[in-house]
Amino acid sequence: MSGRIIYLDNNATTQIAPEVREAMMPYLTDLYGNPSSMYSFAASAAAGLKEARAKVAALLGASPDEIVFTSCGTESDSTAILSAIRTFPEKRHIITTRVEHPAVKNLCENISLFTGHKYRLTQLKVNEKGMLDLAEYEAALGDDTAIVSVMWANNETGVVFPIAEMAKMARKRGILFHTDAVQAVGKMPINLAALDVDFLSLSGHKLHAPKGVGVLYVRKGSPFTPFLIGGHQERGRRGGTENAASIVGLGKASELAAANMETDNSRVRALRDRLEEGLLARIPKSILNGDKSHRLPNTCNISFEFVEGESILLHMNQIGICASSGSACTSGSLEPSHVLRAMGVPFTAAHGSIRFSLSVYNTEEEIDLVLGALPPIIASLRALSPFWKEE
Ligand SMILES: *Cc1c(COP(=O)(O)O)cnc(C)c1O
Repeated sequence: MSGRIIYLDNNATTQIAPEVREAMMPYLTDLYGNPSSMYSFAASAAAGLKEARAKVAALLGASPDEIVFTSCGTESDSTAILSAIRTFPEKRHIITTRVEHPAVKNLCENISLFTGHKYRLTQLKVNEKGMLDLAEYEAALGDDTAIVSVMWANNETGVVFPIAEMAKMARKRGILFHTDAVQAVGKMPINLAALDVDFLSLSGHKLHAPKGVGVLYVRKGSPFTPFLIGGHQERGRRGGTENAASIVGLGKASELAAANMETDNSRVRALRDRLEEGLLARIPKSILNGDKSHRLPNTCNISFEFVEGESILLHMNQIGICASSGSACTSGSLEPSHVLRAMGVPFTAAHGSIRFSLSVYNTEEEIDLVLGALPPIIASLRALSPFWKEE
């Protein structure tokens, strides 16, 4: 593609920060030793891991030995949930939500399947703003609950759940609590030392580190059974030779996120609000999805009624604008996302939903280009729709 890209899909993946790439380079070239080897040549790889572990821990308010490096957010989610059901095989109940990422949603649904439905699964409802009902949650917590797994921030709407409160309620009942914080880490302050969270997942490529590296935070003292069993890496909690270069990159990205969070967030929030307010004002029958006040600063999800999200994406693609739609093409038919369906967004709106997710690398100029380009795209698509009537 010629010309420049306006990248507004940072909840799907992010660009590697130049500082991160630079920190990684030595580990992709000269410092290739296996961090577990005894000679001093490998010691620099081990030292890189150690420093990265400390930086990730600092971003999370955790201690370095509570950080387990994994291959991705999906592995971290699987490890936490499967750990709980292996640790407590007699507990046959899992609590999660209807709006989880597939990494949690599909795993939990599969556990029920591959155990011959010996597991009971509670998928908590959300209201039209995408928020949970804590009374429903409290009532679901039971003596047979092996684990609660609730995402911190939703990847489609940016809605943020009250994780501190929910973890506290689980702890009071002696139930393990996991949060998929892949979208939250780096976009909001997190201090695990002050929380009752047992396990937390994050993924490098969602915060300007490379793809293929993640972390599972395992609270000191929380019962844990490893998923990848092999060598003694990660103190026996995750076998497999460490991805040293990517781990070092994730350490650098964590350091940058911790240092710049406040300024980055206010910059990104201002750009997001400019985009959101501009689109809602310029385009009739456009509706914001998700609770406005409990939301990540970088995400906005807007439904443009009576148009197909996929068509909007194709038109935006032609002028280099990258975003996501809230529907997925499954077997030829457009299915609105499970998140928007759980929120009860009407079909005519769910089909035309677009997620814009920004990063600190976006500019005001880019936002203004989108504000100029999108209204005529929507208008021309609506002109073709038999259902569209401007009132
Ligand atoms: C991207 C994402 C994941 C998966 O992370 P990978 O590293 O791509 O496996 C899990 N949960 C949420 C909320 C995500 O946004």
